[in-house]
Amino acid sequence: MKKEQKIWIALAAVGCVGALVAMIAAVSMSKGIIIVAVLIVCASIVVNCVVLFKHADRLQKIVHALSVGSQIKMTAAYPPGSLLKDIGTATEQFMDETNAKVKTLQNENTDIGLQLQLIQRRKNSVEAILNSIRDAVIVTDDRDRIILANAAAGTLFGFEFDPAQPMAIEEALSSGELVTAISKCRTSKTAHVRRELTFEKAEQPVSYDTVLSCVEDDKGNVLQLVAVLHDITREKEIARMKNDFVSHVSHELKTPLASINAYAEMLVDGEAEDTETVQQFCGVIQSQAQRLGRLIEDILNISRIESGLIKVSKETHSLALVIRDSVEMITSYAQEKSITVHSPASILYDQVNIDRDMISQVVINLLSNAVKYTPANGEITVRTDLNEIEGQITVTIIDTGVGIPAEDVDHVFDKFYRVKANNKCAKGTGLGLNLVKQIVETVHGGSIFVTSTVGEGSTFGFVLPLSKETATQTV
Ligand code: ADP
Repeated sequence: MKKEQKIWIALAAVGCVGALVAMIAAVSMSKGIIIVAVLIVCASIVVNCVVLFKHADRLQKIVHALSVGSQIKMTAAYPPGSLLKDIGTATEQFMDETNAKVKTLQNENTDIGLQLQLIQRRKNSVEAILNSIRDAVIVTDDRDRIILANAAAGTLFGFEFDPAQPMAIEEALSSGELVTAISKCRTSKTAHVRRELTFEKAEQPVSYDTVLSCVEDDKGNVLQLVAVLHDITREKEIARMKNDFVSHVSHELKTPLASINAYAEMLVDGEAEDTETVQQFCGVIQSQAQRLGRLIEDILNISRIESGLIKVSKETHSLALVIRDSVEMITSYAQEKSITVHSPASILYDQVNIDRDMISQVVINLLSNAVKYTPANGEITVRTDLNEIEGQITVTIIDTGVGIPAEDVDHVFDKFYRVKANNKCAKGTGLGLNLVKQIVETVHGGSIFVTSTVGEGSTFGFVLPLSKETATQTV
């Protein structure tokens, strides 16, 4: 320890002693001692102030150096000015390092921001793709909770999917069969399961071709399960209709064919002894062959229209003329039953863009049905009504016939549908009205309608759009 330091320590000790004496004096209340003590204290205060003042600069430097975390070694022999220089260098170095770290962090932050944007965009795109799929798609986790579902799935089962709140499948799916299938597929770890499931939708049965697929990790643990439900209700309906159609066709073809066969056999066996009987048998064969021909023609026409393969040649025609010609063709048949046919009053603008042969077939079919299902001495009225505002023309055929029971009215346009109550009135195939509907609606973009009361008669009709040129003229 240096001499100078020793002196400072001694003086400081004297100050402390003075302070101690002053305290004792205060306690003993002796005047002399008090005066001595006060003097000592004053002296010690002065000395301590000088000491503090002399070392204040160094203390400040030490505190600063410590605050910047410098590794500078504080010694009594520290050369004047070098401390500040070192602190400055250290601070500069520290600032450079800090700036570099801040820059790195900023870059990383930008990268993370971009990655987040990319992830969000991918998420949105996956959601958009999922929602654009018409099939219902449901993804469940290893605890049978729905973690992803598209809009079609929500609509089918009536739940609203919230990604933040996975739902238990029992809660979300109204079909117990599907819930069981999902759980079973997950626990059995079957890669793919396919089955047909039927649910109730708006109180109607709907069929779904359902495919369940397990998503596994490297160790074969099932992480997720994807269920895709494809609506096959329409396909099933078409398949059913095709089967019905084939069985109807074969049944309808068999009947006239059986007649032809039977009468031909009788002729071959010589059972027709006279010319009259031979002629009668031949007549039956001829009419059955004609019926067979009509049936085949109707079936082919319907199937051509349905498949879009029929050749349609549309031109602008006067509908009144088409009706007039059709009425003429049916007159003799109506006269056989003493049925009066009232033709429509002529109208000014009746130009329609139609395939003339097809629309003639429509009018003749409706007129011949009216004659077929109207008892003798009845009446048939044909009307045409022009609607200039809507740009369409309506043809109505009203008869005073047997009528159609209410439960059958909606089905008379179905293929092979025949009203049982009216079967005895006339023979038929049940294809005529279906063909009429296809020609009016599918080929000409019109519409067909029927109203009927049993015992009073029926009203069949159709609406066609007026030809564009005509519509312009009438405005
Ligand atoms: P069909 O060859 O049996 O006449 P359609 O398809 O033309 O076949 O008619 C279907 C059924 O609708 C007919 O079997 C008949 O019972 C009923 N029907 C059609 N037109 C009339 C009508 N004007 N009056 C009463 N019943 C009708």
